[in-house]
Amino acid sequence: MTGTDGINLDAYIRNIPDFPKPGIQFKDITPLLADPGAFRAAIDRLTEPFAGRQVDGIAAAEARGFLLAAPMALALGVGLVPIRKAGKLPFTTVHAEYALEYGTDRLEMHSDALEPGKRILVVDDVLATGGTMQACCDLVRNAGAEVVACAFLMELGFLGGRAKLEPTEIVSVLSY
Ligand code: AMP
Repeated sequence: MTGTDGINLDAYIRNIPDFPKPGIQFKDITPLLADPGAFRAAIDRLTEPFAGRQVDGIAAAEARGFLLAAPMALALGVGLVPIRKAGKLPFTTVHAEYALEYGTDRLEMHSDALEPGKRILVVDDVLATGGTMQACCDLVRNAGAEVVACAFLMELGFLGGRAKLEPTEIVSVLSY
């Protein structure tokens, strides 16, 4: 796909076969992060759909989600709420669990991170099965806030994660 500024962002995504395990093709964003023009184009394309709309904050899960969410928050002029793996956040937390291939994992957010009624954009680098984003949306909604949309740099359509998140609006810059 071509960026609005003519940059082909797909050219900055490196495919790593069989990482972190056999059968997974890892979408490596480090070439994109290393190129300021491509990085800016990615942030522009992620934020464009929200220009002029009411967004009160961005929430994102570690670690690659942070890399996109932080410049998006500055571009939209809103704050950033970090969502982290269990045991990383220092203040009191609330948590949400999501299914892994075997067992479950847990994401946490500070208990005072969001005020009820706030309109929050939730961001990650990749939409795969949708479990991670679903857990992030649960944290936002359980705090009484509203999920405006879920925004991804990449969507792996063949994994069907979109179905888990709809009818929430989904923005993905690159689709595979
Ligand atoms: P899921 O919960 O299955 O939607 O997985 C999404 C999370 O796992 C995101 O935070 C991604 O960073 C990561 N992820 C899943 N699949 C890939 C992939 N093929 N390449 C890079 N990251 C991935």
